Amino acid sequence: MNQSNTSMIPPGAWLGLLGGGQLGRMFCMAAQSMGYKVAVLDPANDSPAGSVADRHIQADYLDAEALATLGQLCAAVTTEFENVPAQALQTLADYCLVSPAAESVKVAQDRVLEKSFVQSCGIPVAPYAVIQTPADFDAVDPNLFPAILKASRLGYDGKGQARVLDVTEAKAAFASMGQVPCVLEKRLPLKQEMSVIVARARNGEMVVYPVAENIHRHGILATSLIPAAVSDEMTAQAKQAALTIVKHMNYIGVLCVEFFVLADNSLVVNEMAPRPHNSGHYTLDAAVTSQFEQQARILANLPLGSTRLHTPAVMLNILGDVWFKGEVTQATEPDWAQTLKYNQAKLHLYGKSEARRARKMGHINVLGSTRDEALARALEIAQALG
Ligand code: ADP
Ligand code: MG
Repeated sequence: MNQSNTSMIPPGAWLGLLGGGQLGRMFCMAAQSMGYKVAVLDPANDSPAGSVADRHIQADYLDAEALATLGQLCAAVTTEFENVPAQALQTLADYCLVSPAAESVKVAQDRVLEKSFVQSCGIPVAPYAVIQTPADFDAVDPNLFPAILKASRLGYDGKGQARVLDVTEAKAAFASMGQVPCVLEKRLPLKQEMSVIVARARNGEMVVYPVAENIHRHGILATSLIPAAVSDEMTAQAKQAALTIVKHMNYIGVLCVEFFVLADNSLVVNEMAPRPHNSGHYTLDAAVTSQFEQQARILANLPLGSTRLHTPAVMLNILGDVWFKGEVTQATEPDWAQTLKYNQAKLHLYGKSEARRARKMGHINVLGSTRDEALARALEIAQALG
């Protein structure tokens, strides 16, 4: 299939998606509201995206028959998470348009490749060492400690990571991770964390969203505040870095770049995700074009939508923990009416069948005429949720 075809795929056509999680669910809804039909390939029989898709192909991501079915049905296919085997995207490219390309996903799903790619763009990352065997620790600069040992692949929400104070702890953590390839990254004093969603179309056109300021708890995103409370100069720097990355990668689709702001106000790239991102959920209610609609537009070769923020917003993640308030063992549904008393709070639940601690169940976008107003309301709502 000629991957440089930029002719528009009209509404009514089928679009395909690898992965059945909440990001896929919101992609389905956005594409469907523009008149597309969506087919989801996911191994689970019950998934957030599978349950809203027009068709769910239940199979492994590398199942040749399932990939052929998806590729023949759909005019174009995208992915909702970076841990889908790049080979699946490669195979699909024989049948239909695929974005992002397997090559891009391969880089973003591997911390070693990702960091060296970002550096090759002239953008700084946290100091790190690549660890492939225990002997690699011998060459590690002692200045890297205290550090975080991160598995190079398959980590998310702080999983696959260990905080280590010295080389002895690092060696033990490497052993307990089964000696999978890792990066050992210097633990930096973070002043702030922020992220930028950027989108690039098949014809090379690019747009960038407002910068989000992110607050993590136990390695999981808890809250995003938009606009970020950072200088105009830093905003411009982050946006420019994100644009440079997608351009150098010849990336097609929606991509998120996470940044650390250090004590001296310098900026380093933490990681990137080749898909919409949790920190971009505010775009559903606060931007002209949501990140999911943008993903559908790019996939279908439609013109890019405006990324203009029309209202400040605070996004609160809803984790499964709020079903287990006060040490109860039985999951209890939160009182949604209580959280929605404020009429500028927008509830998004992902339809997950079971609430579990640390599991992302949904989010609430809290809008306001100013960021402070949205934040004050968000704090009340967070308190009501518990
Ligand atoms: P994940 O893939 O799980 O999102 P990240 O590498 O983004 O993993 O790490 C999750 C969070 O852990 C970050 O958002 C940040 O709060 C913290 N963290 C990660 N790396 C560092 C570091 N080098 N120094 C300080 N904090 C870090
Ligand atoms: Mg992260």
